[in-house]
Amino acid sequence: MQLVIENLVKTYPNGVTALDSVSMTIPKGMYGLLGPNGAGKSTLMRTIATLQEADSGRIQLDDLDVLSEKTEVRKILGYLPQEFGVYPKTSARAMLDHIAILKGVTNRGERRDLVDAMLERVNLSQHAKKAISSFSGGMKQRFGIAQALIGNPKLLIVDEPTAGLDPGERNRFYNLLAELGENVIVILSTHIVQDVKELCTQMAIIHLGKLLFAGAPDLAEAQLEGQIWQKSVSKEELSEIRERYQIISTKLVAGRPLIHIRSEFDPGDGFVQVPADLEDVFFTQIHASEHPAIA
Ligand code: ADP
Ligand code: MG
Repeated sequence: MQLVIENLVKTYPNGVTALDSVSMTIPKGMYGLLGPNGAGKSTLMRTIATLQEADSGRIQLDDLDVLSEKTEVRKILGYLPQEFGVYPKTSARAMLDHIAILKGVTNRGERRDLVDAMLERVNLSQHAKKAISSFSGGMKQRFGIAQALIGNPKLLIVDEPTAGLDPGERNRFYNLLAELGENVIVILSTHIVQDVKELCTQMAIIHLGKLLFAGAPDLAEAQLEGQIWQKSVSKEELSEIRERYQIISTKLVAGRPLIHIRSEFDPGDGFVQVPADLEDVFFTQIHASEHPAIA
């Protein structure tokens, strides 16, 4: 099973081109869609989820034409939107039961077993009777996965599911997603590099509607191998370095800037070569797309 996206274009009425001829092939497993805010991730996901029209292009799931055979797609789709909207005062169990009815599980006993299994799977059994509105961020996201999983989807789309989770919640959520990715296509969008690093075997980087990279994360890292140099600098040095090198990232370590630059040669100056990581890839790609002349 694979999802093939070809030359997908979407321009909103306000003139913003959210998808600028995007093409990618998504195999079974966890696929990471990485991009900063405004990249077009949610637009792409809503389009795949048949909730929004594209201007042109094609999406094919094996033999299924996703853009026209919407009803068929919805039968095999699970979707967790970025904004889940208002969380009801309804209990988790009652809500899942309701969703199961909507998805066509009419037999009451079958539905009870299904809902119990879903609650168990996302580790919410002991909270089944509590109102969803009272859940923590992590519990809400796990509930969101449970509702998306009803009906055994072959295609699962989760839009920025880890945003707003604390580290413990994020870890539990990673484990849940990792289990799912074995038999179905899971598309996960995120602006957090770590999400992709920990979970995804294949990924795409998008920015301002354009696809910048598609492939395996370690392939992306390999392309930068030998070009990433690191140095801990003072804040005064930083502006001078900025003029001379392409700074990829700056983070503070114990209050002092630790910078990564990209250079094909040893820049000297106390820089140390470090292995390229996915964050270097991400920032290099974004930078190159914004400064095509230097790239
Ligand atoms: P992401 O999910 O990566 O943050 P989105 O798909 O939400 O990106 O948005 C991509 C671009 O399209 C942004 O510039 C956003 O402002 C714009 N956009 C998204 N939805 C709409 C809409 N309904 N009308 C107009 N512009 C929109
Ligand atoms: Mg979004």
